[in-house]
Amino acid sequence: MTVNLNSKISDLDGVGPSYLKKLEKLGINTIRDLLFYFPRRWDDFSKITPISNIKVGEAVSVKGVIWEINTKKSRKGTPVTEAIITDDTGTCKAVWFNQPWLEKSLEKGEEIFLAGTLEFSFTGASFVSPVFEKVHEEGTIEDLRHVGKIIPVYSETDGLNSKWLRQKIAGLAKLVYGIKDHLPESVKDDLDLIELSAAIRTMHYPENFDELKKAQKRMFYDNFFCLFCAVLSNKKETEKNKSIVIDYDEKIGKEFVESLEFTLTDSQRKSAWQILKDISRTYPMNRLLEGDVGSGKTVVCAMPALMVAKKGYQTVILAPTEILARQHFESFKKLLGKFEIKIDLFIGAQKESEKKEILKNLKEGETQIIIGTHALLSPDIKFWTLGLVVVDEQHRFGVEQREVLKKINENGITPHFLSMSATPIPRTLAITVFGDLEISTLTEMPQGREKVSTFLIAPEKRRDGYKFIDEQIEKGRQVFVICPLVSASDKLGVKSAEEEAKRLSEGIFKHRKVGLVHGRLKTEEKEKVMKDYKDGKIDILVSTSVIEVGIDIPNANIMLIEGAERFGLAQLHQFRGRVGRGEHKSYCFLFTDSDSEITMARLDALLKSENGFELAERDLEIRGPGELLGIKQSGKIDDTLLEAIKNPDSIHKIRDVAEKYLSGNNISENQILLEKVAEFSTAAKLE
Ligand code: ADP
Ligand code: MG
Repeated sequence: MTVNLNSKISDLDGVGPSYLKKLEKLGINTIRDLLFYFPRRWDDFSKITPISNIKVGEAVSVKGVIWEINTKKSRKGTPVTEAIITDDTGTCKAVWFNQPWLEKSLEKGEEIFLAGTLEFSFTGASFVSPVFEKVHEEGTIEDLRHVGKIIPVYSETDGLNSKWLRQKIAGLAKLVYGIKDHLPESVKDDLDLIELSAAIRTMHYPENFDELKKAQKRMFYDNFFCLFCAVLSNKKETEKNKSIVIDYDEKIGKEFVESLEFTLTDSQRKSAWQILKDISRTYPMNRLLEGDVGSGKTVVCAMPALMVAKKGYQTVILAPTEILARQHFESFKKLLGKFEIKIDLFIGAQKESEKKEILKNLKEGETQIIIGTHALLSPDIKFWTLGLVVVDEQHRFGVEQREVLKKINENGITPHFLSMSATPIPRTLAITVFGDLEISTLTEMPQGREKVSTFLIAPEKRRDGYKFIDEQIEKGRQVFVICPLVSASDKLGVKSAEEEAKRLSEGIFKHRKVGLVHGRLKTEEKEKVMKDYKDGKIDILVSTSVIEVGIDIPNANIMLIEGAERFGLAQLHQFRGRVGRGEHKSYCFLFTDSDSEITMARLDALLKSENGFELAERDLEIRGPGELLGIKQSGKIDDTLLEAIKNPDSIHKIRDVAEKYLSGNNISENQILLEKVAEFSTAAKLE
């Protein structure tokens, strides 16, 4: 059956129901998909190595005659086929497991190519399950698909191996010429990229590694060009919306800065300025304010909120938890106390009558700043006119929620939007994933903040650690203890907050006040514990990761983390940022039961670095970007983003070229590019 690019994969010769299932598992549904299924790596079997020159551990190709071949049963009953191969220079051994049919297809005296890596095992040096191919009488190296060349190795699934894929893909080689290139010539020129069809061919069958590099570059740049087209088009769309122009009022600005108990850092000043400039335009601001825990983001967002209020419009501040909402409420009252602005808090814990009153004031425009959780964006809550939305510590604020913003005012005005995050997102990643956002970064900490001394404590030193803690409590300090789980589980050895609080309060710290907070407590209970802790009524607060973000308790100076290996580095860094906020020398103690090398290397990074950005990059390598960004794991996006981190210069270049292309061209006139870009639109809209 002749197939074309759009044929179903089931139309391909040799693809029956069982192969079909396996191919679908790899995401291959059409012939085109198969051609775009690129190798995971390439083995260099391009040179034939004389047998006497083979070194253990080197990937080589060998050409020789089968001297002997036979299949035995191992002690466990698995068939083991062994062959001795010989050429003019020597002999070597090859072993295959559980493939008894090999003995029938390969015969003594036949000449074969063999490709693999010589390994040492209990039977001596041998090739273990090498790839092989018979040397046909008339055959030349060019006809070979599996050996004697640079060989593609694909990600395999059970029973669908590289050998099968190679054969099928090679059979479709001609179709590759029919694939139209979606990249415009000018873009290919600007980025120095080869044709799509040439790149695809080379990805599967590179003549040499230089060519392969060019093909990989083409595919990698291609992905990013399309991603940026998607992202930048979104941005253009956003900029068509109308917003309220909030001019900078110099007098109020000055008054605000002078009213502060501290001097703003340079990066606070710069970020505030960027935000104030954004909100003075006719289209909505769309900005991310990034800054490590404790870098002082709150004061930065208070300034635009003040300007908006003074202009007569409203601001909503959204926090991920009610505890944080309450804290913001306190901070805002303090920061803006002298400006005669009505600031309200709206959380679940309030009485119905109280809530009603708050919402009424909001609707009538009495309230200028309202602080709460995302519940405030529900459709039945009405604003007078919302001018600014600030979302704290919530990078999962998705595109649907932004759509809500467009409709939130009945007069068609879209509020300005500011999100704030302590998750340090490396710039390269930020412009990729959050490509339609402008970014401000707080790069420095307020002065007078001391480094938190971090220690990894060996299990046998636990008692010493507790003794030190007790001395600190005696001096009036307070302690956080973080556990990975809320309550006891089957997971042996993983500490739960409930058990740990009990253990500490009945044992070594029975003379101290131990508190417990976790996500399963009712809001009022949580609030009460946090308040007691803040008021100094609790010495040791045992908690799960609920306190991860934002909580400000300057008197707490010890952060003890149980099961540290179970948290991401960026997350551990955030825990650590809970202490060191006051005048007291602060400490972070890490406990782990794991002694794996990876755990040790990761935790060691935390001991050595206080830079959230650096730690996030390490996390990225280990856990993938999805986890850091809180976006759904997706192989394609994860891999692409990881590549991006490794190539920051190219990423910026590609973005520039995409911007240039979009400014001179209408993308909707290029149908195939448009389709390609649409594939990336959803990815781009993850944020
Ligand atoms: P985060 O960026 O983690 O949200 P906050 O806004 O909560 O940080 O600020 C942390 C603490 O630092 C607050 O107590 C705040 O008053 C204080 N702070 C903010 N800016 C400065 C500054 N420039 N100098 C001194 N202290 C500051
Ligand atoms: Mg904060």
